[in-house]
Amino acid sequence: MKIAIAGIATECCTFSPWTNKYEDFRIVTGDDPNFFDMYPFMPKYEGIEWTATLVARATPGGPVDPEAYDDLKADMLERLKADGPYDGVYLDMHGAMNVLGRDDAEGDWYLAVREVVGEDCVLAASYDLHGNVSDRIMETLDVITGYRTAPHIDYMETRERACDLLMRCLKEGIRPVKAFIKIPVGLPGEKTSTEWFPGDEIYAQIPELIDGEKVMDVTMQVGYIWADEPRMTACAIGLGQDEAATKAAAETLALSYWDHRADFKFGVPAMPIADCIQSAMQDDVQPVFISDSGDNPTAGGVGDVTVFLAEALRIQPPDLIYASIPDAAAVAKCVEAGIGGTVTVEVGGKMDPWHGQPLEVTGTVTTIVEKPDNTLVVLKSGGVQAILTVKRTPFHYRQQFLDLEIVPEDHKIVVVKIGYLVPELKAMAQKAYLALSPGAVNQDIINLTYNRIQRPCYPFDADMIWSPTVQVF
Ligand SMILES: [Zn+2]
Repeated sequence: MKIAIAGIATECCTFSPWTNKYEDFRIVTGDDPNFFDMYPFMPKYEGIEWTATLVARATPGGPVDPEAYDDLKADMLERLKADGPYDGVYLDMHGAMNVLGRDDAEGDWYLAVREVVGEDCVLAASYDLHGNVSDRIMETLDVITGYRTAPHIDYMETRERACDLLMRCLKEGIRPVKAFIKIPVGLPGEKTSTEWFPGDEIYAQIPELIDGEKVMDVTMQVGYIWADEPRMTACAIGLGQDEAATKAAAETLALSYWDHRADFKFGVPAMPIADCIQSAMQDDVQPVFISDSGDNPTAGGVGDVTVFLAEALRIQPPDLIYASIPDAAAVAKCVEAGIGGTVTVEVGGKMDPWHGQPLEVTGTVTTIVEKPDNTLVVLKSGGVQAILTVKRTPFHYRQQFLDLEIVPEDHKIVVVKIGYLVPELKAMAQKAYLALSPGAVNQDIINLTYNRIQRPCYPFDADMIWSPTVQVF
């Protein structure tokens, strides 16, 4: 059997001025001898001839530049056409891509693949759980399965499950019935984590709903709320060989999500920036982590909004680490001054001028780390140590701090541009707060201006009534 692999994965915030360009994608093609390192489970499938086309991933950001998308799609299609025919295609996706000025980017990608490979080929996609799924996507794909954990510790399992389902469809000649229920609920990922109630209980039902025969798979998509496009929605998806059972499984999941819509809460105290800093200063443990959530680059924020840093410099807590702000010019000035040098720099507010402005900071350069693709510096101003970088740099790992000679446990407050804490940060945090800060992924979704999402939708139309409608494809 012959199976092609293709994918494009990113999450695009339509409230962000920062478009994802071609160079923002990490592109792996069939020319790369290490292509299959991305899928260490694949050797278990025997008798398969794989065709690696193109898999492109970008850190979440704003909409994708249309030219970049068209170039990536053309490259993928050219590689796909060069080989074949195929029995199946595995599509390694995220599910919340937006191409500037266009809707339903993934739907377009799948349709283009379908046109090349034909109706008899089985298309299987793996998703994040923050994807927005359209009717066209459900029509075009044969298999779709998504993460069951947020934070996303099951990303590799999900890829493997998509491929397992694809293999089964091919070997047993199955074309699953697809049951699709749009749930008119739009909630941020920071409230719908699977680590606490009710997300934990809702997702815990999934394995129980799957019997492997009548119901082959079930997916619960939270959706991606910072995309103002018509397809934005939570949804439940069932795949199976028995229509009634598959519909019932999707319905159970959809109803439990709907019934709990008002129960989703942030996992830690969520407050304005100044309140988070004041509370952390009074806590008798350390380190206390604070999420600068509105500007979280891994959710689609830009990352150079300075509002939190400005508050920190105003309040001057005795010991606060701030990670981080990308600003190549400010970094260059710090490097020029050298370690121990005193500089005054205009920091941030350039990539995302919609949500913040450049901030003047005077401080001492304490650390400089030059890497092949990024330079990082630490600028100390009173009790605040701000990490500045050349590139947008999410801080998710302890080692990233150690590389800068910062031992997080030795400091009182560590601020990270993130939403819920990823496992390594959570393990270090003795206490945590989520700052309701401004930025492209502002958690105050009720007060964002939506023009294009389907209404009614909870929580925007809080009193709406709803019962599930199952679409079968
Ligand atoms: Zn996600």
